[in-house]
Amino acid sequence: HVKGNNRDHYKCYEPSISKRLETQLSVETALRKAVKENQLEIHYQPQKCIVSEEVVGLEALVRWNHPEQGMISPGLFIPVAEKTGLICEIGEWVMREACMQNKKWQELGFKPVVVGVNLSATQFHQKDLVSKVKKILDESGLEPKYLELEITESMAVSNEEYIIRTLKELREEGVLVSIDDFGTGYSSLKYLSRFPVSKLKIDRIFIDENRKQNKAIVKSIIHMSHSLDMKVIAEGVETNEQLDFLRQERCDEIQGFLYSKPLPPVELEEIFQQNTYH
Ligand code: C2E
Ligand code: MG
Ligand code: MG
Ligand code: MG
Repeated sequence: HVKGNNRDHYKCYEPSISKRLETQLSVETALRKAVKENQLEIHYQPQKCIVSEEVVGLEALVRWNHPEQGMISPGLFIPVAEKTGLICEIGEWVMREACMQNKKWQELGFKPVVVGVNLSATQFHQKDLVSKVKKILDESGLEPKYLELEITESMAVSNEEYIIRTLKELREEGVLVSIDDFGTGYSSLKYLSRFPVSKLKIDRIFIDENRKQNKAIVKSIIHMSHSLDMKVIAEGVETNEQLDFLRQERCDEIQGFLYSKPLPPVELEEIFQQNTYH
């Protein structure tokens, strides 16, 4: 516990505003360059049906392959991209790339899967989001039912009517919508029952079975999803014990290191070979 003068405390530990701006500016400059020079890549993490154990979906996760720093995780640069508005450009690129890649896999004869793309709040609130999504689907030739947009609960707090209208428009296009990191945000149950959402993604903090309360929370989320006619997927599944519990509770799908880390497209094709063909 730090006692005494709070202001002194902050002086010591908080980097000055100018320093933070400087860092942000240099990351921003580098990130703009990364977008222009194709340093961004997408890795895909498989999602398995818990019953058939087949891959039914993939989540597209962006990576920054920096020429000197190597692979940089989105946790580090997405926040900067969000602050600077670059997120819209990056997010659109990810969506287009993921749709084209998914279509390409279908054309190669692999069994069709859904590709999940993360939407940032800024992207979601763009007025022309729906037409952008339509355009990307048109250009890629991917059927809308093979695209899932992941939104987070925090996007749902403000402007409820706008959110419901946008989600309805997306669903009318045939696109799937899921709520990512479910349980960590602020969305109320009233909103949840009004949102035309197809799937809840249980945040991985609840999948850790070592906290006894987590099991009760996971059970409740699964039960609630099914009551609301939604599917439910568990994120961050790392152990067989977790898998057994989720199976026993009738969770629909799993995503996590137990099965696979996010992988570059070539490596995924090896996994697809094991998926049964139609
Ligand atoms: P997310 O959407 O919740 O993605 C799941 C994250 O959990 C990924 O981290 C994934 O690698 C990690 N993960 C999956 N299974 C396990 C597991 O078993 N154990 C552990 N410890 N972690 C697991 P990643 O790829 O670092 O992405 C972090 C976050 O960055 C994402 O969380 C998402 O919020 C954001 N992000 C990634 N790509 C994009 C993007 O294209 N656009 C936007 N707006 N955000 C993105
Ligand atoms: Mg996600
Ligand atoms: Mg998540
Ligand atoms: Mg997350």
